[in-house]
Amino acid sequence: MARRRQIYEGKAKILYEGPEPGTLIQYFKDDATAFNAQKKGQIAGKGVLNNRISEHIFSSLAGIGVPTHFIRRLNMREQLIRQVEIVPIEVVVRNVAAGSLSKRLGIEEGTQLPRTIIEYYYKDDALGDPLVADEHIACFGWASQDEMNDIADMAIRINDFMCGMFSAIGIRLVDFKLEFGRLYDNDYSRIILADEISPDGCRLWDMRSNEKLDKDRFRQDLGGEAEAYQEVARRLGLLQREGEDAGAVLDLDAHRNKRK
Ligand code: UDP
Repeated sequence: MARRRQIYEGKAKILYEGPEPGTLIQYFKDDATAFNAQKKGQIAGKGVLNNRISEHIFSSLAGIGVPTHFIRRLNMREQLIRQVEIVPIEVVVRNVAAGSLSKRLGIEEGTQLPRTIIEYYYKDDALGDPLVADEHIACFGWASQDEMNDIADMAIRINDFMCGMFSAIGIRLVDFKLEFGRLYDNDYSRIILADEISPDGCRLWDMRSNEKLDKDRFRQDLGGEAEAYQEVARRLGLLQREGEDAGAVLDLDAHRNKRK
C-alpha cells in the first residue's frame, strides 16, 4: 500500500489524509504527555483503548443529535473523521473541583461544584494554553459569538449525557476537555465536536473508592495507567469478553504494525 500522507502529528494522535476529500484518518498513539509535554512516556495499549472509548462516546453523542467529526472506526488504532478547521480553544467542563481549578482558587480536590463550570483555554503550546475569557475570544477573533453560543450549548449537552453514562457504571465525571471544529460547506460553516473523548482528557473517579481511572495516574506517577484505561473500557462494555484485557488486542495490533 502506498504510504499515506501525514497531515499533522500531535502528542497522542497522528492525522493522515483520508480516502476521500474532506476526510482524515485519526491514528491513536500510546504516547502520553503531561505538564505541557514536559513529562513524556507511553501507556501500553492506550491508543487502542482510546480509539474504542472515543468511538463509543462520539457515536452515542451522535445518537442524541450532537454533531461530531466521527465517521467510523477503521481498525484498532484508526478512525475515519471529517476534516474540520479546529477552533483554537480548549473547552473544559467541570462538575467537581480538581487539577488547575483547585490549585488556582484553593478549592479542595473533590469538592462538588454547586453548578457546572465551563472554562476556555487558548490553544497555544508556547504560551502553555492560558485560561482566557469570552472577551479575549471575541477580541482576538478566535471564534464568533454565534460559534461560542453553539459550543457552550453543546458542551452542556455533552456533559449531561456523559455524567449519566459514567454514573451508570459507577464513575464520577469530575471534569473533561473538548475541542470543536468548523465544518465548511461552501461559504457556510457550522461547529461540530472534534478531537477525542477518552481518559486522556477526562478526570474519571471510581464512585466508591475515588480511585482515579484517567491520565492523572500518569501525571502523578500512581502506576496502573493501562489497567485504569482498560477498566473504563470494560465498564463501558467495550472489551469483548469478561476478563479479556487489552493484552490480546495489543498483540494483534503489534503484529499488524509489523506487516505494514
Ligand atoms: N485537559 C486536557 N488537556 C489539556 C489540559 C486539560 O485534556 O491540555 C483536561 C484534563 O485531563 C482534565 C481537564 O481538562 O480532565 C481539566 O484540566 P485542568 O485545567 O485541571 O488542568 P491540569 O490539572 O490537567 O493541568
